[in-house]
Amino acid sequence: HMSEQLTSQEVIQLTKDHNYGTWRKQKFWNPNHLVSADGCYFTDGNGKKFLDFSSQLMCSNLGHNNKAVIESIKKQAETLAYAAPFYATTARAELSKLLLEVLPEGLTKFFFTTSGTDANEAAFKIARMYTGKTKIISRYRSYHGSTAMSIAATGDPRRWPIEPRGKGQGIIFSPEVNCYKCPLKHSYPECGIACADYLDYMIANEGDVAAVIVEPVVGTNGVLIPPKGYFKKLREVCDKHGVLLIADEVMSGWGRTGKWFAIDNWDLKPDILTTAKGITSAYVPLGLCATTQKIADFFEDNYFAHGHTYEAHPMTLGPAVATIGEMRRLNLVDRANEIGAYLGEKLNALKPKHPSIGDVRGIGLFWAVELVKDQKEKTPFNTWQEKLDGKPIVVEQIAARMLGEGVVMQAWMSHFVLAPPLIVEKEDIDKAVAALDSALVMADSLLEQ
Ligand code: PLP
Repeated sequence: HMSEQLTSQEVIQLTKDHNYGTWRKQKFWNPNHLVSADGCYFTDGNGKKFLDFSSQLMCSNLGHNNKAVIESIKKQAETLAYAAPFYATTARAELSKLLLEVLPEGLTKFFFTTSGTDANEAAFKIARMYTGKTKIISRYRSYHGSTAMSIAATGDPRRWPIEPRGKGQGIIFSPEVNCYKCPLKHSYPECGIACADYLDYMIANEGDVAAVIVEPVVGTNGVLIPPKGYFKKLREVCDKHGVLLIADEVMSGWGRTGKWFAIDNWDLKPDILTTAKGITSAYVPLGLCATTQKIADFFEDNYFAHGHTYEAHPMTLGPAVATIGEMRRLNLVDRANEIGAYLGEKLNALKPKHPSIGDVRGIGLFWAVELVKDQKEKTPFNTWQEKLDGKPIVVEQIAARMLGEGVVMQAWMSHFVLAPPLIVEKEDIDKAVAALDSALVMADSLLEQ
């Protein structure tokens, strides 16, 4: 058996030599050899154990090695491993039934994909076919995926390297909703939620807008939580102009924010909701584009020009049923709220100790610690260009120190995203926060006086 003969060194070398490392200059890719995982921990080729405080890519919400989900994968493989997308299958029917129970009310028709990216691609096409309009408004601090339209609709600079040769038709950006550092330089609540008014102004002046896409709680770009009243206004603006509202819940869904979906925190009714990641807790690759019945009705008499060989792949749908079952059995949505409050308390207690902490914010088990080198100007430690160029990034250096302590935490730009599996225990939280506490000393020493 070949894999038993390979040393960790060989595994890493073969991987590096023959695979692309994502979102980086290749010479800066030094992958660790991940061997096994259980609960909130995984083990590398040297037998070192790591606390997975980012749920891999904010997706392993159930934690690793869940027996019920693993069983469901085996069972699905033995029953029906594949069916072309034009067949009905039991897994497909069971999942559809469950989705009607857990999704925000009003989303009744589903298109299953294999990632968050292609769920958004489906959403854009559906919005354009349905409205007969072209433009999609996204926001700067956002990530919506890596392929044609979804990378074009990604507001963060991951689109820069391809944008000059791959500009998506009709994609435009609005300012992000960020009450810590408002791009419009307002402050809430005196602003009257001016960012929603600005969107109204944008849509009126652009014309031909099919949809607005938002991450209801922005993920990788720093757990940005909209202020109370924002979504009510956003819904009104969209309705006023006949523009569809797409909620990208790829990261924020599935209990992460202490509700099944982030928008359940505000009772927003989107026209389209996309998700992936936590839908199967990442055991198998599944994405979902869910629409209202009104949109579904439109396609009764209009050609639905979309599809994939792997759409509604049974191997992904059966495990999604098991994932939802496990989330319910373990009451993980409520748990995210309870234990998330504990994490929030501990993080807020770090703030007075570290002058490099600009902001601590979060909801459920979804938290960010944003570092600044200047509290008044709220200046990040590094620029995007430095990141694209592979220059040393302060938060990445701090994350490397935490890694030494056996704690994995996602570092991005000038903040950390803390999103452990929803089964995380208080001792794990203590361990992660302690690692952050001691590693942050490095950032404190870099402050501009
Ligand atoms: N949308 C959001 C909000 C995401 O966080 C991500 C992935 O991180 C995506 C879309 C893309 O999903 P995927 O990586 O499954 O293609």
